Amino acid sequence: MSEVVVKVENICFQYDKRGNEVIHDVSFQVQKGEWVSVIGDNGSGKSTIAKLLVGLVQHTRGQIYINQIKMDEHTIWSIRQHIGMVWQNPDNQFIGTTVEDDVAFSLENLNMSYAEMKDRVNHSLQLVGISELSRMDPSLLSGGQKQKVALAGVLALHPQLIILDEAFVMLDPKSRNSIIRILQELKMKEKLTIISITHDMAEAASADRIIQLRTGKVNFDGAPKDYFDNVCDWEVPVADQLRRLLITKGKELPRNFMTEAELVKWFGN
Ligand code: ADP
Repeated sequence: MSEVVVKVENICFQYDKRGNEVIHDVSFQVQKGEWVSVIGDNGSGKSTIAKLLVGLVQHTRGQIYINQIKMDEHTIWSIRQHIGMVWQNPDNQFIGTTVEDDVAFSLENLNMSYAEMKDRVNHSLQLVGISELSRMDPSLLSGGQKQKVALAGVLALHPQLIILDEAFVMLDPKSRNSIIRILQELKMKEKLTIISITHDMAEAASADRIIQLRTGKVNFDGAPKDYFDNVCDWEVPVADQLRRLLITKGKELPRNFMTEAELVKWFGN
């Protein structure tokens, strides 16, 4: 039986009491183990939805439930323990002076032994492929490396739900593919639930569901195939669709393809 992890009911939000409402009557649900891509033009409200889901800003109307617990000022702290959030700009997330300290920092309030903490830190650094950076100062890393550190910090928490706000934009395509594959594996094995705000249509094509926002409202909520067949007004390159399909199957795409026709042929084999 499916289990609802996120339930958003008719929420509205405005940043400034006298300003415009930027989220209007938004409702959706996310099931345990689902990967939902949230897409939409700049300013459509995607990041605001992420902030609302982790209680950084409070909805002015409607309700949000995480794991059937209604979000309010009393429940937000315990709700946040189950959510890992990776923002677009990882610089805002660093606290430690080394990568391993930084990843460990997220675990310090969880009351676990030093040995377990060390284990979790090493494992999550290894998962995202940055073990060799463990003694580095996070502020000296490249944008892509910083995004990996931020993700390692979140994975070390063993969250049930991860919210990614353009969390892969600074990664090179190879790293992006491998991180997506790792998250797909966690989704399959641990039933990790993922809400990913993205501009990457290829990533959205491989999600279980797409929610498209338009001027603060849900314009589409459904299967990627429906979105690309019936709503999207431009073609997602076939190569991108196939690349993602391969990622979900745990395969690497050979790098030397020149044309989509060659790619389709190779995929057929
Ligand atoms: P997206 O993530 O889709 O680009 P946002 O959620 O960032 O969209 O923004 C939605 C709307 O809210 C936009 O009109 C934006 O200008 C406005 N907005 C975003 N952040 C703030 C803020 N801190 N104060 C006031 N308005 C904001």
